[in-house]
Amino acid sequence: MKKIVIIGGGIAGLSAGIFAQLNGFDSVILEKHHTLGGECTGWDREGYHIDGCIHWLVGTKEGTGIRRLWDTVGALEGVEIYHPESFMAVEHDGVTLHFYRDLDRFESSWMKISPEDGEAIEELCKDIRKLHSFSLPVDKPMDLMNPIEKLKFIFSMKDVGPVMQKYGKISVRELAEKFKHPALREAIASFMPEGEYSAISVVFPLGTFTGNQSSIPLGGSKALAMRMVEKYKSLGGTVEASSEVVDLEIKENTVGRITCKNGKVFEGDYVIAACDPKVLYEGLLKGRYPDPEFQKRYNNPESYPLASNIYVGIGYEGTMEEIPRTLKFPVDSVQIIQNRKPIEHLQMTHYGYEPDFAPEGHTVITFAINQFQPELEYWEALVKDRAAYSQEKDRIGEEVITAMKARFPSMAGKLKVLDVATPQTYNRYCNAYRGAFMGFWPTLSGKSMAHRGNIKGLDNLVLSGQWLQPPGGLPVALITGKDTIMRLCKKTKRTFSQG
Ligand SMILES: Cc1cc2nc3c(=O)[nH]c(=O)nc-3n(C[C@H](O)[C@H](O)[C@H](O)COP(=O)(O)OP(=O)(O)OC[C@H]3O[C@@H](n4cnc5c(N)ncnc54)[C@H](O)[C@@H]3O)c2cc1C
Repeated sequence: MKKIVIIGGGIAGLSAGIFAQLNGFDSVILEKHHTLGGECTGWDREGYHIDGCIHWLVGTKEGTGIRRLWDTVGALEGVEIYHPESFMAVEHDGVTLHFYRDLDRFESSWMKISPEDGEAIEELCKDIRKLHSFSLPVDKPMDLMNPIEKLKFIFSMKDVGPVMQKYGKISVRELAEKFKHPALREAIASFMPEGEYSAISVVFPLGTFTGNQSSIPLGGSKALAMRMVEKYKSLGGTVEASSEVVDLEIKENTVGRITCKNGKVFEGDYVIAACDPKVLYEGLLKGRYPDPEFQKRYNNPESYPLASNIYVGIGYEGTMEEIPRTLKFPVDSVQIIQNRKPIEHLQMTHYGYEPDFAPEGHTVITFAINQFQPELEYWEALVKDRAAYSQEKDRIGEEVITAMKARFPSMAGKLKVLDVATPQTYNRYCNAYRGAFMGFWPTLSGKSMAHRGNIKGLDNLVLSGQWLQPPGGLPVALITGKDTIMRLCKKTKRTFSQG
């Protein structure tokens, strides 16, 4: 039996492992951390569970191809799905604006707030509605499609393509400026910081959300990943946790011995690197097999920015039924990073719908504070001074509590900081380069990439995972893991089984 060694036990590595087992390969997953799931995870603090990932998952809608794929890997089968009524509520100067799931309600609620923006609201909602026909292509990657399949795919994009093109040409700010009412402008502009970020970052998530394609699996991110681990093991897959790969022996265009930090050594007919590309290209391959597509992107962060966040977990002695699940509220210039522009909004998500995430009568809340290229460099430098790093984390936690008390005075005395994760946390646990946990973020000048994962000069090693199809995310990790096995099936002359 042909053996596959998979480096990395995130969603891509697990997907590759499950499809490897389903297609008659013998596989082993080598994971650096003591638990699998990678960035799709959660952690416990002081009786609370902090969900570290899923804010919305594309593929929860029954009957879609992507949903079938999630079911095949055991991630969603039999799992209850929570459908929040609004993607996010944004407060501005006494006005609360909702991005409702029901697009008619979304449109009429915005019209009520700002009748003078009627035309712009109508245009935005019309375009978002067109995205409802979008379905992630999951059957085959483009390179394995025959001409008829390619034509069918192109045809399936006839409504979606023009919308993506239209919003791919304007920035988030330019989209916001189409509206006259300051609350509407602010709600849209607050999706991304100032800069060249393409307005796709606004319309695409709203398209999948209002089209009922993305919701939240109850039980959270870690439980989802653990179901995939169980599925993988049930198919005969082997997991080697706490096994960080540190060396690849290369002989005649082939990877031979794979050595882990714990001293264990593995060998396989094929090797799938389902880890961060920097780990592969620079760490394991020591820069000897550079990839021009990735190099271009890493060398040009203006057009291809990396994205991460500061993630603050708060425990609240109370319930929050009346407060929208995700709420962005203005704050009085919170200084997140010293000597940089203070932030003017905080975005919080509460998990009141998850009874097991907090002690009875309590609620766990998370704050995601976006961090992009310059901030990632700041954290990379700061982490070298452990005391200063830890002090900054504590200070940020307290800043968040102060801002919460100002917005929700009745919560005073009932809030505590559970945890503050920074971009460096993702680097430490997942080897994520500079802490970036999504692929290169879409900008006006950045070109899209669909990488097959091949490493020029090496016959039995491929890259898989979210970085192959920016902007990444869980569905891309799932699909690329599966696609990698599809290509290996072709290479080894097997008929691919979807399971
Ligand atoms: C706060 C947060 C919120 C998010 N929200 C969403 C969301 O709402 N929806 C969504 O779709 N996505 C979301 N994401 C993104 C999502 O988590 C990622 O896109 C996805 O998990 C990436 O999966 P992956 O398998 O490609 O990579 P990873 O999860 O990075 O997996 C790579 C694995 O490889 C391991 N590894 C690295 N180097 C080595 C080595 N040398 N040896 C062995 N193992 C190694 C790592 O430890 C890791 O487990 C979020 C992420 C975060 C952090």
